[in-house]
Amino acid sequence: MEINFIKTNLHEFIDEGPLNVDFGRYLTGSWWGGFHHGIGILGLCAPITVAKHIEALLIAASCTREFKYPWGSHRLIDNKLSWGDVKVVHDCYELSRQEKIRYVLKNYITIGKHYPTLRSCYSRFRDFNCSTCEKCCRTITGLVLENIDPNKCGFSIDSKFFDFVKANLTKGRGGLIQDYGEVFVWSDIQRHIPKAMSHNLYNSEEFFRWLRDFDVSENAGKRKFSITRKMDITWCLFYVYYKLPKNARKAIARLKPIAKLLMSL
Ligand SMILES: [Zn+2]
Repeated sequence: MEINFIKTNLHEFIDEGPLNVDFGRYLTGSWWGGFHHGIGILGLCAPITVAKHIEALLIAASCTREFKYPWGSHRLIDNKLSWGDVKVVHDCYELSRQEKIRYVLKNYITIGKHYPTLRSCYSRFRDFNCSTCEKCCRTITGLVLENIDPNKCGFSIDSKFFDFVKANLTKGRGGLIQDYGEVFVWSDIQRHIPKAMSHNLYNSEEFFRWLRDFDVSENAGKRKFSITRKMDITWCLFYVYYKLPKNARKAIARLKPIAKLLMSL
C-alpha cells in the first residue's frame, strides 16, 4: 500500500486551551479528542482522495456502540461526510480495540509472518513511541495479552514494564487513567483476560491476574476539564488562566514556579 505523509498545523492554528475550558465539561476529555480530531483528520485527507481518485476513505473506529459519551469520531458523524465522489467509512465499529488486536492484528502477524510498526504515542515531536504514556501502555498491554511482542512492533519495554503499569494504574490523580474514555479502553482489555494465561511474556502473567479484578473506574483520576469532573477551585483557576490572551499565558508559563503550580493542579 502506498503511504502518504501530511505535515499540518492542525493543532496550532486553533487555540485549544480556551476551548477545553469552555467545552471540556460537556466532553470526556479535551476539545481535540471529544470534538475535533475526526473531522480534522478526514479534512486533511480530502485533497489526497481527490488527487489520487480514491472513492472510499476509511477511518478506524475509536470505540464500539457501548461507548456512551460524546467523541469526535463516530459513525454518526464520519459516515455522513463526503465530498465530490468520495465517501467516508467509519471502519470496524463492531470490534473493540482489544478485539482488533486479537482478530485483525494477530492474524496479520501469524499469516504474514511480519510484525507491523505501530505508532500509538501521544508525543508529537519527541519520540516515535515513548512506551510510557497512557496510550503506549494501553497498546503494549493489549499486545502482550495476545502474546504479541511489543518490542517487535515499535515499542521498547523490559521485564519491569508491568510493575510500572500497575503502579501508575493505582495512582489515581496523575496516574494512567484520567477520564471515561480511558476507563472504557482499559475495561475492554480487562474483559479479554482469560482465567488462565497461556504465556508469561515480559513477566505479565501475575499482572494480568491482578488486572482482571482491578476496579478501573474506582481508581481513575479526573482530567482537568471533563464531563466527569466537578467544578471546583482548581477548575476555576484554570478557567481564569485560559481566558487570558495567548501571549499572556505564554509569559506566565515561562515563570517556572507558576508553571509548576499549574501542572500540579
Ligand atoms: Zn507514548
